[in-house]
Amino acid sequence: MAVLEIVRMGHPILREVARPLADEEIQSPDILQLIQAMTDILHAAGGIGLAAPQVNRSIQLAIVEVAEIPGRYGDLPPSPLTVYINPSITVLSPEEEGFWEGCLSIPGLRGYVERPQHIQVDYLDLPGEPNRMVLEGFLATVFQHEFDHLQGKLYIDRMKDTRLLSFEEEFAQFQLD
Ligand code: ZN
Repeated sequence: MAVLEIVRMGHPILREVARPLADEEIQSPDILQLIQAMTDILHAAGGIGLAAPQVNRSIQLAIVEVAEIPGRYGDLPPSPLTVYINPSITVLSPEEEGFWEGCLSIPGLRGYVERPQHIQVDYLDLPGEPNRMVLEGFLATVFQHEFDHLQGKLYIDRMKDTRLLSFEEEFAQFQLD
């Protein structure tokens, strides 16, 4: 497989609704190689989530990994690398909370986005088995951000106040206190 590159905002694939993976595709060499390559990119970039459209593949696949980096993401418990295929989200409680989000496809920027903080995620795991998990707080935000990528949405679409969009340097200077 060719070396993958992260596609950035403005590339039309980020605005497509990705297609679901068929059962027989899930453990194919193509998909397993893609997951490995996405994992390498995520680690190199120091991110916590990556969706297939961000590496120019319009399929319903995302990975999330919360590494144990003290202070990096507040009190977030570490979460091992997990593959999410054909995910769907059910909002369990509509109450929203805001976080400053970043995106590997929108480098250098942060934006304040409010999202529901109690969700259920139904998905297929890497062997292809159905799974369900309930997520709260910042992790709920992380998953909604990644799964938005599979629907052709970016976090800036979710912003209610575009004045809360900032370059990372200015974010560090004026917002982090
Ligand atoms: Zn993103």
